[in-house]
Amino acid sequence: MSEIKNAQIEWDPDGQPISGEFGDVYFSKANGLEETRHVFLHHNQLAERFSAIGNTQHFTIAETGFGSGLNFLAAWSLWLESAPESAQLHFVSVEKFPLHKDDLSRALALWPQLRDLAEQLIAAYPVFVGTGFHRLKFMNGRVNLTLIVDDAAAGFAKMLASTHPLFKQSGTKVDAWFLDGFAPSKNPQMWSDDLFECIKCLSKIGTTAATFSAAAIVKNGLVTAGFSVQKVAGFGRKREMVKAVFTAKTETLEPEIFQYRGSFSPYPVPWTINKNKKSFRDKYVVIIGGGLAGCHSARALAERGWQVKILERHAALAQEGSGNPQGVLYAKLSPMEEAQAAFNLTSLQFALNFYSPLWEKIGEMSGVLQLAYKEAEKELHAQLKDKFSNADALVKFVNEDQASEICNTRLKHDGLFFPTAGWINPRKLCAYLVDHPNIQVEYGFNVNTIELANSQWKINSHHEKTETSEVLIIASAKDALHFEQSAHLPIKSIRGQTTFFARTPEAPQLNTVVCAEGYIAPPQNGIFCVGSTFNLKDTETVLRDRDHQTNLENLITYLPEFERAAFDNLDGRVAFRCSLPDYLPCVGALPEVDKFVENFAPLRKNSRAGITTGGSCLPGLYINLGHGARGLAYTPLAAEILASQINDEPLPIPQELVNSLSPARFVIRDLIRSKR
Ligand SMILES: Cc1cc2nc3c(=O)[nH]c(=O)nc-3n(C[C@H](O)[C@H](O)[C@H](O)COP(=O)(O)OP(=O)(O)OC[C@H]3O[C@@H](n4cnc5c(N)ncnc54)[C@H](O)[C@@H]3O)c2cc1C
Repeated sequence: MSEIKNAQIEWDPDGQPISGEFGDVYFSKANGLEETRHVFLHHNQLAERFSAIGNTQHFTIAETGFGSGLNFLAAWSLWLESAPESAQLHFVSVEKFPLHKDDLSRALALWPQLRDLAEQLIAAYPVFVGTGFHRLKFMNGRVNLTLIVDDAAAGFAKMLASTHPLFKQSGTKVDAWFLDGFAPSKNPQMWSDDLFECIKCLSKIGTTAATFSAAAIVKNGLVTAGFSVQKVAGFGRKREMVKAVFTAKTETLEPEIFQYRGSFSPYPVPWTINKNKKSFRDKYVVIIGGGLAGCHSARALAERGWQVKILERHAALAQEGSGNPQGVLYAKLSPMEEAQAAFNLTSLQFALNFYSPLWEKIGEMSGVLQLAYKEAEKELHAQLKDKFSNADALVKFVNEDQASEICNTRLKHDGLFFPTAGWINPRKLCAYLVDHPNIQVEYGFNVNTIELANSQWKINSHHEKTETSEVLIIASAKDALHFEQSAHLPIKSIRGQTTFFARTPEAPQLNTVVCAEGYIAPPQNGIFCVGSTFNLKDTETVLRDRDHQTNLENLITYLPEFERAAFDNLDGRVAFRCSLPDYLPCVGALPEVDKFVENFAPLRKNSRAGITTGGSCLPGLYINLGHGARGLAYTPLAAEILASQINDEPLPIPQELVNSLSPARFVIRDLIRSKR
């Protein structure tokens, strides 16, 4: 993640936005929308193609230069007019200089005919903290925007399945390109060879492209990328524009030329490419586990038209890790740029958007205060200042007095305040998630074994019941260790005890969640929930007085006014977090361990060995677990990633971050460390 600059907008006397960076207009006020319709919609034949889309299918548009979002809104509007209600539009757009929200609102106010859609875009428009991906979902996933803040070539390169020449064309494909952005004369850097190389890798036979520009650099770039190019009449007074269709075959390269025996390969080891990836025709999936991970996965696939069956061993949802009455929606921010920092931030932003229309049903958007309660936290908060100083809508730096005022109780520490976060009742959330016509839950189904026969997963219960499905997701948290196919994962189980007590008049009237060494939320139905202890290798399931004591002592340390509270009739709950050694979840296809070990054996001697085979994953078997203490923030995005993989759509995060979540990462690490 690197620093970004917002667009510097100047407004001309007609109220039209002009780019300060490029000295060019974003669109013509007189006819910008008509120009969009002519250049991008008409010349990509979108009306015809949208209406020919099948139920539950998807269509992907990719764009250079999001600007004010006018092209996106025009495509969205046409989608609603032409495509079946159960189909999904993916619109991926790369923007190097995103507009400030105020500028976006002002620019879009010029198009009253798009007001409804513009309001939804403005409401979901993200806070930008460095380069990165933002997946915004509209109309229950009928329309999906992936806004990539980056240079165009760099942003699209992050969508490629791999940078390895043998595999860079093997990922998901775009159906139509909107080559917008400022004209080549004003913005020559964008129209680079690297950009056209990405366009080639992301296109398939029949992919179309349209651009307002007829400049030689654009035309030649498209021809080199494999498009047949045609000049046609431009809009209004513009004489010409270019439309194109991808006709080149995918390159076939001989694997032998990429083998670097005994030396270092300059290309990434392609273990992240799933050799056994399939397209699934039936769109039926079984999910083992009815906690947050299983229910979010179910919802994400149901909204894509999949029929989903959840198998849950209990008589109700969310009875284990997800069973606490109150959980806090939070993530640990980091000044670093490594995978965990990126996933924490991206998943928090996705979750905040996901939950924003649901708060009344599932909890309370009370805000969350994270206190700098010890030296290490103070240092961390100081280090975060550079990165998050302009992100007030996401997180504010507050001093002791401001923090005290926010939570309505005297505090002794400065902190971070997340104004749009809050606490959630996970059981209510799970009930909401499965309340969808495509989702069925079978309770009392305790899965014993799973086996693959004739391309179908047979799922056997302890009581001689079976289910079959071509696609199966394991979302059974730590109990995934009981299945042969996932038993190799280095899953850790961490015991946690929460403490409940009734609010009495002496207890402070908390307005917000407060997190320090533990957390407390405003009371739910008059009961406070204080969390929670952390004990690895502790399997005790009964409540312990000593753990209640720990929770309450911690509470009084960071919220001293609770000293006055009467902690009578303490109650609580014990549950187990499921975690992995790198504290990232496990999301994706499960590896065939023996084949991985065989194919990637050279990594034992050379971690950059020139291997030219992809990874063998178990066909149709996926996993979603390892959400540690952050299930509420992690599971919405994890489900979105998994559903996008299964449904062969553009991914909501960079491929490299997807690789960091891959269930196969542990086999590869073991090989590199000669542990296998
Ligand atoms: C004490 C404590 C406090 C926490 N506080 C927070 C917090 O404040 N904020 C936050 O974001 N996160 C918090 N977490 C973490 C969060 O609760 C978890 O990350 C989340 O619940 C994980 O969801 P899951 O669906 O992966 O697992 P689970 O909720 O455990 O779901 C797994 C499901 O699989 C089912 N299952 C297992 N095996 C089988 C089988 N063989 N057949 C059928 N069904 C099976 C189980 O019955 C269960 O319903 C806390 C966790 C604990 C323990």
